[in-house]
Amino acid sequence: MLPSVLVVEDNPANMKLAVMLLEHAGYRVLSAETAVDGIALARDQQPRLVLMDIQLPGMDGLEATRILKADPATRDIQVVALTAFAMRSEEAWIRAAGCDGYIAKPIDYKLFLDEVARRLAAAGGPPND
Ligand code: MN
Repeated sequence: MLPSVLVVEDNPANMKLAVMLLEHAGYRVLSAETAVDGIALARDQQPRLVLMDIQLPGMDGLEATRILKADPATRDIQVVALTAFAMRSEEAWIRAAGCDGYIAKPIDYKLFLDEVARRLAAAGGPPND
């Protein structure tokens, strides 16, 4: 089994697509619709990678990323922003929050899976499950 990936996304269509692509590629997939639930799952399940939607109801994905990166229990988990913003200024803003990379929406299947594989390789080591 390949490493686990947590998807935090409030849009049902985007969630469905991300989960389908990841499961098809062989990853174990965890999902959360809010930042609060995502942070709790990350702490509890220790996924290798989090795909974090930026625009979430309540706490947004940037704040959630700051919390994950400030916590010794979760700071080594790779976080990739899922964002409709793809401009350079916003990339800097996303990285400043602690994201290790970003994937622009709408999701391009190949770019999506390439970035997931790249971030998991950056995380290093054998699969965690
Ligand atoms: Mn959203």
